Amino acid sequence: MEAKIVKVDVKDVRFPTSLTGDGSDAMHTDPDYSCAYVILTSSDGTLGYGLTFTIGKGTEVVVTAVKALAPLIVGKVVQDIFGDFAKFWRDITSDSQLRWIGPEKGVIHLATAAVINALWDLWARMEGKPIWKLLVDMTPEQLVSTIDFRYITDVITKEEAIELLKKKEDGKKEREAKLVHDGYPAYCTSVGWIGYSDEKIKELCKQKLKESFTAFKAKVGQNLQNDKRRLSIIRKEIGNDNLLMVDANQKWDVKEAIDWMKELTNFNLLWIEEPTSPDDILGHAAISKALKPYGIGVATGEQCQNRVMFKQMLQAEALQFCQIDSCRLGGINEILSVYLMAAKYSVPVCPHAGGVGLCELVQHLAAWDYISVSGSFDKRMVEYVEHLHEHFETPVTIRKGRYMLPLRPGYSTKMKDKTIEDYQYPDGNVWKEMFEEGKFTKPL
Ligand SMILES: [Mg+2]
Repeated sequence: MEAKIVKVDVKDVRFPTSLTGDGSDAMHTDPDYSCAYVILTSSDGTLGYGLTFTIGKGTEVVVTAVKALAPLIVGKVVQDIFGDFAKFWRDITSDSQLRWIGPEKGVIHLATAAVINALWDLWARMEGKPIWKLLVDMTPEQLVSTIDFRYITDVITKEEAIELLKKKEDGKKEREAKLVHDGYPAYCTSVGWIGYSDEKIKELCKQKLKESFTAFKAKVGQNLQNDKRRLSIIRKEIGNDNLLMVDANQKWDVKEAIDWMKELTNFNLLWIEEPTSPDDILGHAAISKALKPYGIGVATGEQCQNRVMFKQMLQAEALQFCQIDSCRLGGINEILSVYLMAAKYSVPVCPHAGGVGLCELVQHLAAWDYISVSGSFDKRMVEYVEHLHEHFETPVTIRKGRYMLPLRPGYSTKMKDKTIEDYQYPDGNVWKEMFEEGKFTKPL
């Protein structure tokens, strides 16, 4: 039955995480984890839910951008969208006037992500499958038909992508069964937020070890002596056999990044994440080259704005760990193209997660990657942060340090109705209370 998109609803939802220091790093010292949350209504009654992650102020700007995209979506037949998803994706990223405020970057691209994520959720719900399964069950030709290859054919063509996927067709059933049984490896970031005390870090390391995590990440970059102290504490708690990564969240200049990291080489670090500006491809390449002798790779991507930037990062050998973000790139269509380019360069993809809902989303993508593309867990793991999952109807399940596959239809993006009532900004019940208590100032 033909169905049309009849309504695009968007909400500004914010959580007061700055009160506890959750999510704090060298550059974002007091984030209030938030999202622009999109609800699509189709004429057959199915709803699709999508979001893009923000950290407080400015969420209202993303909400306005979603409203600007809405006329390009309302009235469209969903079967037409999914039948030629690459064309639809190009249409909404290439509107002749709206593209001027991008193109394919910044606020308008975050809005694209929220809308496209909602469309994929709608599609998966209509098919009665979780997203990872929807992707895994597609033929290579169908899957590739969702990707807009403009600007990346010098690295990967549609034909090459199909070829790459065909090579991995064998063994998909076995890998799917293995993944459903064992889960996908996760690493834990929430032990090392920069705003946490040494005591809290110790406590959290002990707790996470008990939960069977074997890989950990800490925030660095505010103060070298503090970094050394904090990393000593973590190494002492987790021992030498477990993996440890660090994340500077874009704090340094290129030379500064190299010098600072040379001071941390005896902590046996797997990667330095976001050492410098996310746009500095050659800078990342220089850092990669300088740190290679120490066995430290460069990881980046959570603020890499589109597939073109990722293409150049790969071409320039500027990253050794590719960190796609489910809400920064323009939804699954664009993310698939980055996975395929990374596969061509044999660079492992370790998705960025945390925030609001990012863990819920990326688990689907990592599962598809394992089953249909990489066929390997080698150097691959998904970030795990434990905040805010309780607000989702189908939150992630972590068992023994691994993501257990979601089995319910959709992209795991639907928030609880009560959460929206309480945390919608600025009129939700919780925000009204916090304004009255003087914890936050009501916006003008
Ligand atoms: Mg990071």
